[in-house]
Amino acid sequence: MIFQRPSAIIPRCAAGVIASAATSFLLATLTPTASYSGDAGSFIIFLGTGAADIASPKTGKNQNCRYIREHGGKNERRNAALFVPPNVVIDYSATGRAGLQAAGIAPTAVDYLFITHSHGDHCDPQAIAGLAQEKKGRLVVLGDAEAIKKIRVHLESLSTKPDLVLQELKPYQEFVAGEWQCKALPANHVPKEQALLYVMRRGDKSLFYATDTAWLPMGTFSALKTEKLDCAIVEATFGEMECPDTIPDCQTAHLNLPHVRQVKQILAKRNILKPGAPFCVTHMSLNWCEPHDLLAPKLAREGIILPYDGMRLELRQALQGRR
Ligand SMILES: [Zn+2]
Ligand SMILES: [Zn+2]
Repeated sequence: MIFQRPSAIIPRCAAGVIASAATSFLLATLTPTASYSGDAGSFIIFLGTGAADIASPKTGKNQNCRYIREHGGKNERRNAALFVPPNVVIDYSATGRAGLQAAGIAPTAVDYLFITHSHGDHCDPQAIAGLAQEKKGRLVVLGDAEAIKKIRVHLESLSTKPDLVLQELKPYQEFVAGEWQCKALPANHVPKEQALLYVMRRGDKSLFYATDTAWLPMGTFSALKTEKLDCAIVEATFGEMECPDTIPDCQTAHLNLPHVRQVKQILAKRNILKPGAPFCVTHMSLNWCEPHDLLAPKLAREGIILPYDGMRLELRQALQGRR
C-alpha cells in the first residue's frame, strides 16, 4: 500500500490514503445504477483499479491530478477490487460499496469476499461489516491472518454483529467459494504479513489476481506451472518508474511496468496464460502512472489491457482473439 512521491520532484496529490472526503467525492460521481448479466465464468468486472494514493485528484497539484480534473471519466479510479460472477469480490475498501453500485451489483449478490492483505486500500473492516449488514445474509470473508485479525478486532467492537464468517487462509491453501475452486498463493509485499494472491477456477475458466506484490515468489511461479489461465491481472503500481533507491517500495513491495512485462513474458512462455488470453494490470498509482486515457493505448499496443473502474472484461471474446 505504502509509497510516497518526494514532493521536491513533483507535488503529490493531497492525500496518500483514502480519506472520507475523497470517498464522498467518489460516491458523488457515481453513474446511475447499471445492471449486469451473463454467465458466471464468462466475464469479470473491475470495481476499482487504483492504488492507495487515489484520493483527492480534485486538489492535487501534479500533472496527473490536473489531467484527471480536466478529463474525469476513465481516469478516475477507486481502490483496486474485482467482481467475479456470480458472487465473489476480491478486496473491499472504503470505495468498495461505490464500486458495486456503479456496476449495478447489489450487496445481496456478494457471498464471498477474498482479501489479499490488511492494508486499508484492500481491507476496510468498517466497510466490510457495512456490506454484511446491508446484505442481511451471510457473508464469508477469506484472507490472510493479519487481514482476518483486523476484521475480527473491529467486529468485537460492534454491539450488533453482522452475519460474517471469517476464514484464515495459508499460502497454497485450496478452498471452494460457491462455484469457484480457488487457491491462495503467496505474494511478496510486506515483511510482517503474508499477503495473498488468488487463482480461481470454474469449469474450463481460470483467473489469476495478483496485487499487492513485488516480484512474484518462486513458489508462486512454481504453483502457477500447472494452471492454464484465461486471464491474468497483475499489479503495476509504479508504472514506467525505474525504481530509484529513494523509493524502496518500488523494489520491495510493488511492481512497475518493466517488471510486469517480464511476468507476462514468463506466463506466456510457460503456457500458463492461454494464447490470446487477456493480460491486465491494476492497482495503478495516481502519482506514478499516467492517466488511463494516455497510458491505455500505449499498453494496448503491446497486448496489455489497462482496465478502468467499472470495466467489464468478456473472457470468451478475449479468447476469440479480440485482444
Ligand atoms: Zn494496495
Ligand atoms: Zn498493500
